Amino acid sequence: MSQNEPEHRCLNGDEQCPVWQELITLRARVKKLENDVHRDELTGLHNRRHFNYAINQELERTRRTGHPTSLILLDIDHFKRVNDDYGHPIGDLAIQHVANAIMHDLRRLDIACRYGGEEYAIILPSTPINTAIAVAGRLRQQIFGIPIILPQGRQLSLSASLGVSTANYQDKEVTARALVMQADKALYKAKNKGRNCVVANVPFPQTSLDTSLDTSLDTAD
Ligand code: GH3
Ligand code: MG
Ligand code: MG
Repeated sequence: MSQNEPEHRCLNGDEQCPVWQELITLRARVKKLENDVHRDELTGLHNRRHFNYAINQELERTRRTGHPTSLILLDIDHFKRVNDDYGHPIGDLAIQHVANAIMHDLRRLDIACRYGGEEYAIILPSTPINTAIAVAGRLRQQIFGIPIILPQGRQLSLSASLGVSTANYQDKEVTARALVMQADKALYKAKNKGRNCVVANVPFPQTSLDTSLDTSLDTAD
């Protein structure tokens, strides 16, 4: 809406009306604050607060429409070493680099969040487990395949481990907490398998799914 449309004009038609100028400024500030409350400052991804809100919304949608909701938890491998070897600012750069890779690879409706320090959560609405596994595999490759170019042309290669979980229509009682726990268990398995891989957890009975998906899916390069 342009500033000249009725919503943005003083009722007395005074172009310079200070009250309206103030109102317009406040509206813009509220909009920015609303955005800030839901964004992670370092990466620009959604933050944990937004994640909590969004995952509950998507699970409600799954219950109502029957479309599955998938969740990927992604954790950078041996990240402490990055900080130790290169320093905290380069560590921050690495966190941004992975965030960019995630944003670049996702579809418009997917919800990418910074879940914690070097951990990300990606909600995939209306996405079955097989597709979520494919998305996670692509992300893993992307992160492993594209090094960070450091000052003086040095390169820093990263890898990440990913855990995948899905809630289906028949899982009516699945809570956000349970879905996160299942993805977290899968992530834990991925770490134990040697990192740089994807593991999916299929916690809830699924008639049409090959149960072999329960364990490992995509091994390290
Ligand atoms: P693993 O492969 O098992 O995940 O090992 P890891 O070293 O990645 O895991 P660990 O939990 O031991 O270390 C995570 C490190 O991430 C420790 C913490 O200092 C660092 N970290 C957390 N948040 C930030 C941040 O915002 N910036 C930087 N530079 N480092 C961070
Ligand atoms: Mg880590
Ligand atoms: Mg971690």
